[in-house]
Amino acid sequence: MTSPVEKTVLVINCGSSSVKFAIVNPQNGHVYLNGIAEALTLPDARIEWRFEGEEKHNADLGAGADHNVAIEFLNTKVLAANPQLLSSICAVGHRIVQGGELYSEPTLVTDEVEAGIENCIPFAPLHNPAHLIGIRAARKAFSTIPHVTVFDTAFHQTMPAVAYRFAIPEELYTKHGIRRYGAHGTSHYYVTHEVAKELNVDVNNFNVITCHLGNGASVSAVKNGMCLDTSMGLTPLDGLVMGTRCGEIDPSVVFFMCDVLGYKVEQVREIFNKKSGLMGISGETSDWRGITKGYLAGDEKAKLAFEMFCYRLAKFIASYYVPLGHVDAIVFTGGIGENSYLMREKVIELLPEVFGIKLDADLNKAALSYLGGRGMISSADSKVKVVVVPTNEELVIAQSAMKFVK
Ligand code: ADP
Repeated sequence: MTSPVEKTVLVINCGSSSVKFAIVNPQNGHVYLNGIAEALTLPDARIEWRFEGEEKHNADLGAGADHNVAIEFLNTKVLAANPQLLSSICAVGHRIVQGGELYSEPTLVTDEVEAGIENCIPFAPLHNPAHLIGIRAARKAFSTIPHVTVFDTAFHQTMPAVAYRFAIPEELYTKHGIRRYGAHGTSHYYVTHEVAKELNVDVNNFNVITCHLGNGASVSAVKNGMCLDTSMGLTPLDGLVMGTRCGEIDPSVVFFMCDVLGYKVEQVREIFNKKSGLMGISGETSDWRGITKGYLAGDEKAKLAFEMFCYRLAKFIASYYVPLGHVDAIVFTGGIGENSYLMREKVIELLPEVFGIKLDADLNKAALSYLGGRGMISSADSKVKVVVVPTNEELVIAQSAMKFVK
C-alpha cells in the first residue's frame, strides 16, 4: 500500500445494520483503506476491508456484534496493523441522512449536535439512530480529533417554500416539520460542481438537472449552485421509481389498502419501501442489470419496469424546466446513471423535441464508469449538455471534515 504522506480523513457511513468506512486523502480523493461491517446485531456479524493495492481481508465480529464492536475493531485491529495510516487521520467525517431544517452546512460534532440528530429521528427512523451510535462509538475510539457531520439533506435547504411545502394545513409544517427535505444531497452537490468543472463554466452561473440513480434514486434542479427542487420528500420514499421503493404515489392508495383491504400501516410501509419499485413491477429483481436483461429478452414485466423508471425520470426532468427556466446541462450519476447507456438513451428520447437535447450514440455507449468511462455524451448540436459523472460522496465528506482541522 502507498503510505500516506498527507493528512487523511476517516469517513464513516452507518446504516441500520452496517458501517461503511474509508480513509480518504481530501486533497485528491485517494482512498487508502475501505471496507464494510455488515449484519451488525445479527448472528453472522462480520467485517471486510481492503488496504489499497492489497487483497481483501475479512473477519467474524461475533454473534450480535454491534456498531460499537465494529468501530472498535476498525481502530484496534484493522488500523493498529498500520500505525502510519492511523496517525495520518486528522478528522472523522460522518454521513448523516437527515438533518431537518437544523443543518444546512457540515457541522462539528458536539453533544448539542448529537441531540439535534436525535430530534430528526422521526424523519429517518432507521438511519439517524444508527448514525448516532456510530458517532458516539467513533468519538470514543478517536477522541482527540474533530468529528464532523455531513448531512444528506443540507444541500436541499436552499429550496424555496413553493418547492418544499406540501399543500396541507400550515400547522403540520410549522408544528411538526412536515415538508420536503430531499436526500442524496452530498451527491447532487458533488456532481453539480464536477460538471461545472468538466464544462469549464462558473457553478454560480449555471443551471443543471442532476440525476442520482442507484438503488435509491432522486433528481434535483440546481440553479447557480443552489438546489431549487428535488424529487425525494419528507423521506427517501418519494419521487422516482427505485430498486424496491415506489416513489411518488397517490396517498389514497394507503387509505384504500388500510380501510378497504385491511392492511396495517406497518405492512404498507414495508411494501412501499421493500417490495415495490423495480422489484414490485418486475416481480423478479430490484437490480437494474437484471431488469435490463429482461427488457432486452422481451420479458413483459421487466419491460414495464424499465419503461416506468425511464418515463418517471423523464417527467421529472421536464418538470424542472419550471424552476430553472433554462437548462445548461443534465448530469447522470449513481450505479444506474453512470452505467446504463440504454436508460440514458430512453430518457433523452422521451423528452420533448422542443428541448433540443441530443445524445451522441457512441459517446453515450462509451461512458460506463465501471470501465472508467465518464464525460460528455451529448452531440455537438445539442442545446443542453448531457454528462456522466461518477459520484464521490466520500470525497465531499472528507473535504468538509478537513475544513475543521486546525
Ligand atoms: P446504492 O444506492 O446502493 O449506492 P449504486 O449507486 O451502487 O446503489 O447503484 C446500484 C444500481 O446500479 C443497481 O440497480 C445496479 O444494477 C446498477 N448497476 C451497477 N452496475 C451497472 C452496470 N454495469 N450496468 C447497469 N446497471 C448497473
